[in-house]
Amino acid sequence: MQWQMLGTDFCTGYNVRSLLKKFFSCFIIQGSCSVKEISTAGFRVNYFKYFEIDVVNGKGTRCTLFVSGCEHACKGCYNQATWPLDAGFPFTDEVADKIISDLCDTRVRRRGLSLTGGDPLHPANVETVYQLLMRVRNECPPEKDVWLWTGYTIQELTPEQQKVADLVDVLIDGKFIESRKDRKLLWRGSSNQIIYEFDRSDAWWKKK
Ligand code: SF4
Repeated sequence: MQWQMLGTDFCTGYNVRSLLKKFFSCFIIQGSCSVKEISTAGFRVNYFKYFEIDVVNGKGTRCTLFVSGCEHACKGCYNQATWPLDAGFPFTDEVADKIISDLCDTRVRRRGLSLTGGDPLHPANVETVYQLLMRVRNECPPEKDVWLWTGYTIQELTPEQQKVADLVDVLIDGKFIESRKDRKLLWRGSSNQIIYEFDRSDAWWKKK
């Protein structure tokens, strides 16, 4: 999902991230093949990167997972390396445990978890992402919020994708459209993309 900040456009923050990586490199894990992998419907879910401390993707200090796999092929995407489902590293139980542990860490308080990519709602990713979010809801403090970027619009979500969305607090939807790129936008790259916040009292999405 494409968005920009600080006058530099990028897809899910890569330019800024390369700078932050210098500061937070000790916090980045790159996966391991030595533990049991979570597999769903015959697909091995991969992730491209995980940042256990992140201040770019969403409000506050967060954990951010870049899930591999995107079928939208937006012109101008800066994250093309995340498009293949097999890009990056296997999303293992160990990685999921690490995310839960980081969200529960009281020494460095995280406001929540951000899921981006790639597309966390790629059909091959939804079951694993759903399982991860169920763990976040069951094992982490209730105030942790979840942000998710997807190239699908909220109206296009399948029932399986909607199940994941039901566990999300802020959802930024839609493809990046180069002709609607706007550097002034926060958390998104083009004006067609909409930031939705889930209103628990209404049990429905509201545009921010
Ligand atoms: S939704 Fe579009 S901008 Fe985002 S990762 Fe996929 S191709 Fe790139």
